[in-house]
Amino acid sequence: MEQKSVMKQGSNPAVGETMKEVCRLFEARGSAWYGGEAVSQLEHALQAAMFAERDAATAELIVAALLHDVGHLLHDLPENVAEQGVDDRHEMLARPWLAMRFSPAVFEPVEMHVAAKRYLCAVDADYMLQLSPASQQSLQLQGGPMSGDEVSEFERRRFFADAVRLRKWDDAAKVVGLKPPPLDHFGTYIGRVSQVTTP
Ligand code: FE
Repeated sequence: MEQKSVMKQGSNPAVGETMKEVCRLFEARGSAWYGGEAVSQLEHALQAAMFAERDAATAELIVAALLHDVGHLLHDLPENVAEQGVDDRHEMLARPWLAMRFSPAVFEPVEMHVAAKRYLCAVDADYMLQLSPASQQSLQLQGGPMSGDEVSEFERRRFFADAVRLRKWDDAAKVVGLKPPPLDHFGTYIGRVSQVTTP
């Protein structure tokens, strides 16, 4: 069977590149508005990571919160694609990018964070009502609330609880004027959990 080699920070200079790449992505696209909200992509990411840190999440989940929308930074579609009726599938775009750099404890909750919204809408009547208008609009593009079968299947997934926690930080991370720590602050978590997987 083909073995994948995984190198932790310190054994491969490529690991140090991950933080640089994250900085480059946010520099290039981070000032874009976060789809239909009054905060930028960077503010949104930093606020989500700050909430995860405040809730004593693992380093993996803090990094997941910081990078949950990295898929939005990896494509060239306009900021308001959802308003135009297009689902950019950003959670799927993020997966291969994150899987090259992090373990499943990072990339699985990120991939699941859109499904987690569909899940919460199905199981919590109040949840859907408190979603922002932009988030309600994208929900429809993403398939609407889950069916009963989808709910049971989702609850059986390994990173189900992490994905739901991440979703709640994501929903909260839209506060105008809230000053989260800078990107550098979260670099230590990235350094701690990043790994480079070579085929
Ligand atoms: Fe988000």
